[in-house]
Amino acid sequence: MTSLSDDEPIRSSPSFPTVVLADVILRSSDDVEFRMCKGMLAQASPVFAETIARLSASDAEKGVDERVDDLPMIPVAEPAADLELLLHFCLPRAPPDISDLSCAVRLLESAKKYRVEWALDCARAAFVQLAEDEPIRAYAIACRLNLEDEAREAARLCLRIPLATLIDSEVEEIGDIGAKAFKRLLVYRQTCASVVVGRIASWAWVDALCIAAPDTKWLWFSDGCCDKMPVNRTDYTGRREVCKKWWDTYMKGVAEKLRSCTWEGAVSSRDGLQHFLRSKNCYLCRAGAAEHIDQFTENLRAEIAAQISTIPYVFDPSLP
Ligand SMILES: [Zn+2]
Repeated sequence: MTSLSDDEPIRSSPSFPTVVLADVILRSSDDVEFRMCKGMLAQASPVFAETIARLSASDAEKGVDERVDDLPMIPVAEPAADLELLLHFCLPRAPPDISDLSCAVRLLESAKKYRVEWALDCARAAFVQLAEDEPIRAYAIACRLNLEDEAREAARLCLRIPLATLIDSEVEEIGDIGAKAFKRLLVYRQTCASVVVGRIASWAWVDALCIAAPDTKWLWFSDGCCDKMPVNRTDYTGRREVCKKWWDTYMKGVAEKLRSCTWEGAVSSRDGLQHFLRSKNCYLCRAGAAEHIDQFTENLRAEIAAQISTIPYVFDPSLP
């Protein structure tokens, strides 16, 4: 056991609360001390529990090489900012909000290392929420840190961004990942777009919709009431059915949007209604148009999300 010399810089974090009856000190890699209770640490983290159990061993085996105010000092590899954030999750009080993506990732890493489950759950939830605003950055960070689940989630959120925006992205972190990791994202996008567009353009999907609601008389099928020039719509299987022209135009627009941004938010019932209102229509169709198009859009969104969920994003930990 050694003592710290007087000139060795040990500081406390001004933003960390005073812990009553502290009986152990954690020291960050940049020499900031955090006074904690052994019981709190052991309860929150099995890793800290093991370290603390070693403190109870004989002096020669303590693994503690310094004491301050007669308290055992445990040095850790994390800098103060990361350690402090993690320790907030070991206190009996609400932890701070995580409002920054790099903060969420740093917490993810330390929570995994020390197996602080609550912090891990909060960090994952924060990552997903923040990745919605910065999916490209989130993807790059997750790939660089080898975080498989987070990379997958970020790749899914990147589907919402037009391809041109993705390619032109000036997100700094994108430079941290290799060309192969970026290509993997592009391949995933391409697969999602191809599968989703093929599915929603197919008559098989419309069949499924009709089977699910057998009593509904969908207004895009021509029954001669108003559209006198229906079109033959052919899907990728070669199946041909007659439908109203406005709906065919609308669905072509939907496919175009989904090729660029493949996610359920790319389609809206307003678009469908606008196409209908611009078409020649009759009072019979107008009466149920808004409800039909809302119902159709809701099903369309669910189908897009369901199709995307079937497409695997293959994570390769060997790629940076
Ligand atoms: Zn009509």
